[in-house]
Amino acid sequence: MIYLDHAAATPMDIRVFEAMKPYFLSDFFNPSAAYLPAKKVAADYEKAKDEIAHTIGAKGNDLVITAGATEANNLAFTAVSEKGKVLYLVTEHDSVRKVTEKYNGIPIKVTPSGIVDLEDLKTKINDKVEMISISLVNNELGVIQPLSEVAEVIRNVRYNRLKRGIKTQLLLHSDASQALNLLDINAKRLGVDLMTLNAAKIYGPKGVGALYVSHTAKLQPLSVGGGQENGLRSGTENVPGVIGFAKAASIAHEHLNGNRKKYANWRKMLLSELKDYTLINKKHTLDNFVALCYNGIDAERLIYLLEDRGVYVSTGAACAASKGIRSHVLAAIGLSESEIAGSLRISFGEANTEEQIHEAAQIINEVVTLERKRLENE
Ligand code: PLP
Repeated sequence: MIYLDHAAATPMDIRVFEAMKPYFLSDFFNPSAAYLPAKKVAADYEKAKDEIAHTIGAKGNDLVITAGATEANNLAFTAVSEKGKVLYLVTEHDSVRKVTEKYNGIPIKVTPSGIVDLEDLKTKINDKVEMISISLVNNELGVIQPLSEVAEVIRNVRYNRLKRGIKTQLLLHSDASQALNLLDINAKRLGVDLMTLNAAKIYGPKGVGALYVSHTAKLQPLSVGGGQENGLRSGTENVPGVIGFAKAASIAHEHLNGNRKKYANWRKMLLSELKDYTLINKKHTLDNFVALCYNGIDAERLIYLLEDRGVYVSTGAACAASKGIRSHVLAAIGLSESEIAGSLRISFGEANTEEQIHEAAQIINEVVTLERKRLENE
């Protein structure tokens, strides 16, 4: 099996699994309990939060632990008032797009390379806009957004509002689910007020995420109960999950540079060995993302044919692909219907070797050639 869909899910690093194990078996105590072993677990939990926060230049207290990125994204929007308006990048993940519907969210355009159109953003910020949501890395293209430039625009708007005596907040939220693996993130430097993190994309456990919250944002809980996570996310803490998240985040942080180099080489290699394709994500992209188009070919068919040969890729976001929904991301960057239908997303990661990349290129070439021949004879 050659697994090339790390943007959808990453296998758990064995070190993460080992770090989590004791918290299922022996250190299983409820961190809120009064006895000493439970207090130790509570302390380990807080330490793990500090460790996660450290990787983005923040403190444990700045994080609200959630059950994944979807929940963190939903929680972020509770900072918006009832009458507030929101803007979101048109290429956002559904967990952002769907929640913005509650606020009649307005999409911000992207350029043909998938980068935020700053002019469009500027014209859409009116005095009612309270939040702007722009992911750090897009989950279909791997495109990295220039968040610092967005933050600069926001700072100017805030200053202008202040001068005119307008007290409406303007917050920047970023879904960084796909980013922690290969980017050196510093929340303050980026200028975000809220940022979503996801353990499941960095060789950690699924169903664990976090929302970074700066002092500028005031959130409301999505559910109420025991008051954990400063009252913002009630429910007994997922101690093993957070321990695993911390281990995964630290490992990712330690290996940023080495992995970037490795993936950049693999990307170059793959692109030179593959034949008859159009590269979709040419610029400003994470090196482990390759978005390709085989015009005239049905990529849905292609992924099944590739699976038969042991190569696992996808046509886009896993949740949309499984429902046969056309990619809104590829439409937003201006691809035609037939180009979208012929698009593949390849995302490599720690489950791969250089040999596998060579082998995958060969298999993809063979399968595409056969498919083109079949179409010619139809
Ligand atoms: N945001 C982005 C950019 C993602 O890639 C994903 C995962 O598919 C999510 C949010 C949702 O994450 P989860 O399913 O862990 O809640």
